[in-house]
Amino acid sequence: MQGKLQAQTPVECVRCLKPFEQTYEVEISELFVLDTANSSDTDPYVIDEGGIIDLTPIVREEGILAVPMQVLCSPECKGLCAECGADLNEGPCGCEEDQIDPRLAPLRALLKK
Ligand SMILES: [Zn+2]
Ligand SMILES: [Zn+2]
Repeated sequence: MQGKLQAQTPVECVRCLKPFEQTYEVEISELFVLDTANSSDTDPYVIDEGGIIDLTPIVREEGILAVPMQVLCSPECKGLCAECGADLNEGPCGCEEDQIDPRLAPLRALLKK
């Protein structure tokens, strides 16, 4: 069985926490066997006596694996102000940039890239 699974899942931007819908696609390629006697650990999917292939476990498993963990609403997302939590995509919040916690400075440098 080969196929392409396309799904949408609600996610949150890791920088600004804005919720949005992420579309993702995963190629599925699985082997099915008819005869349980000849099946091994490498052939996990067995077609039952009725000849019906249940795709639910595959779609669930592959789908969960493919859900992106670290997503950005846009590659240019500016994230949230470390001081006041304002969404910097909507404009500068007016905080003094230099008041940032020094421990967060490397993080901010990353955000600037
Ligand atoms: Zn964002
Ligand atoms: Zn601020």
